[in-house]
Amino acid sequence: MGQVVRQVSNQTLETMKNTYQAELKQTPPHALFAAQINGTTITAYKSGKVLFQGKNAEQESARWDGDVVIKDKKPTVQKIHAYTPDERLFSQSIIGSDEAGTGDYFGPITVAAAYVSSDKIELLRELGVRDSKNLSDQSIEKIAQNILLCDIPYSSMVLDNPKYNKLQARGWTQGKMKTMMHDAVIDSLLGKISPTKPEGILIDQFSEPGVYINHLRKENKQLPESTYFITKAESHSIAVATASILARSRFVQEIDRLSKQVGFTLPKGASAKVDQAASSLIRKKGEAYLHNVAKVHFANTKKAATYLK
Ligand code: MN
Repeated sequence: MGQVVRQVSNQTLETMKNTYQAELKQTPPHALFAAQINGTTITAYKSGKVLFQGKNAEQESARWDGDVVIKDKKPTVQKIHAYTPDERLFSQSIIGSDEAGTGDYFGPITVAAAYVSSDKIELLRELGVRDSKNLSDQSIEKIAQNILLCDIPYSSMVLDNPKYNKLQARGWTQGKMKTMMHDAVIDSLLGKISPTKPEGILIDQFSEPGVYINHLRKENKQLPESTYFITKAESHSIAVATASILARSRFVQEIDRLSKQVGFTLPKGASAKVDQAASSLIRKKGEAYLHNVAKVHFANTKKAATYLK
């Protein structure tokens, strides 16, 4: 199926709308108008971006002036293991999965998986979906809300601090926790979208695929078919970028909730500011309380004690 994105002027947008008057169909959320002609779907956005999709996409788009938007030059994919995806996967209808909170002393680990069908990719890009690491928490909240308005099927999960600390004390690595969480959200999402089957599942790689598969095996689980791993997956795939925003937004919500619970803003990350916050928390509520709001095996717990002397 062809796909062309053209950047046109406001004037052209208006002319287009008039030209396609008889072919207009229901306007999707956040779009200006949409039309269907000659087996091609045309979706126009306020920014002047117009998406042509279908067998005559190229032909239909050629009727209009304005630049064909050259897509961001994506890093090329090097096949480094059997689970490296083919680049075609990034424009297909797939499940993407990503996590947040793993490097933060306070707050849980959150994981989200999102199913993005190929016809929603451009819309999500238009809404600003990209690697959540490049976005402020404020924009993340806004974009996450927009994602929900677009009816993107997703599944998310929170591993709260008491549970995290218990598993850690039992010898679970973060890698194993993340593996089981990714597996759980993907499994739940596969159930939600059934009988639709994704063309693939892409996980933002955090360990060697073999290690991931071994963790699953020890818990009597196996990798779903057509699962792929690549590092920096959110820069390649909108489905993973969508998941990364949903996971991060869930993390931010959780840390806000915990902040209310303790009575002051818990800082993110694992810096000296975090050590200080941990020590005032110990002073206020006792060291045992950290188990409720922090990943206690982090070095921050020990560092916090030095502030108490
Ligand atoms: Mn990630």
